[in-house]
Amino acid sequence: MAPDVRSDLHAIPSYVPGATVPGAVKLASNETTAGPLPSVAAAIAQAAAGANRYPDITAGTLVARLAEHLGVPARNVTAGCGSVALCQQLVQAVCAPGDEVLYGWRSFEAYPIIARIAHAVPVPVPNRADGALDLDALADAVTDRTRLIFVCTPNNPTGPAVSRSELTAFLDRIPERITVALDEAYFEYVRSADAVDGVAEAMARPNVVALRTFSKAYGLAGLRVGYLVGPVDLVVPVAKMVVPFSVSSLAQAAGIACLEAGDELRARTDAVVAERRRVRDSLLDLGLEVPESQANFVWLPLGDAAAAFDSHCRDRLVVTRCFAGDGVRVTIGDRSENDRLLEAARTFVTRT
Ligand SMILES: *Cc1c(COP(=O)(O)O)cnc(C)c1O
Repeated sequence: MAPDVRSDLHAIPSYVPGATVPGAVKLASNETTAGPLPSVAAAIAQAAAGANRYPDITAGTLVARLAEHLGVPARNVTAGCGSVALCQQLVQAVCAPGDEVLYGWRSFEAYPIIARIAHAVPVPVPNRADGALDLDALADAVTDRTRLIFVCTPNNPTGPAVSRSELTAFLDRIPERITVALDEAYFEYVRSADAVDGVAEAMARPNVVALRTFSKAYGLAGLRVGYLVGPVDLVVPVAKMVVPFSVSSLAQAAGIACLEAGDELRARTDAVVAERRRVRDSLLDLGLEVPESQANFVWLPLGDAAAAFDSHCRDRLVVTRCFAGDGVRVTIGDRSENDRLLEAARTFVTRT
């Protein structure tokens, strides 16, 4: 007889990562094409020599540098093993079994998984037709059991960002006993007017936290480090849920080095933003529908044609991220990678 395990395991979906196909262009996981900045790679190499020692359990130096960088007190910041770990810690910190976690859908694949892991109930709320979060519908979906709302902005995988005025109107409708998590994994790519600054929101409201990461714009997806900013009454409970030593010494050193790199990062994100516009305009010219994106990817709401588009691209050694029956998300890579994608899209549209 097998040992007893949770009876609800079947209800917990597995996270499906973007595929890696040898020799293909990978536009499936919203990574940066270029490796870490040279100064960051050097800091990682140096930290490797001390890998026999446990890391600083609080990531104190990284947290202090982040606080300085963001202009907030260090007690309002905690670091985690990627921001997805902090999402999970947050659910564990605020939800009792059966409490509800709200989020737009489609959005980040991890939300329903981590809600279930914490014995909470995931409640997806459909997005607007243009791929933007429906903040009114999210506020309408609040019940007595709601404890947490994830607002992913820009929204992965559809691309649109919430504006500051929309967010203010939304937050004003949410009771302060409910935590609102602004998931800003793509914050560094936002160029819209009236953009949300989650850190400022988190410092101004008792029930708002901002989640950011070094995985995306900073190019450290493989090292696993992100951070949460918010009121002490949420930061302390979230920090309590951490698996001890979950931010490695290499990740801490790399995060610190990123914060010292400054302008180099801006140049990299500017290049992606320029390519984002070029790719979207080209796809629109092909007659495809593409919501305006503020992140390092674009979304093709192809519906039933999503799987065919994905495999058409795969045959041409371009790996995209398919949500069958719904759409395809394509990461903005470098110019030549994007050209490969555009060529695949062109032959898809003109196929007979
Ligand atoms: C990539 C991503 C994250 C988490 O990234 P980490 O690598 O865990 O820091 C969180 N939220 C969204 C919406 C993402 O797309």
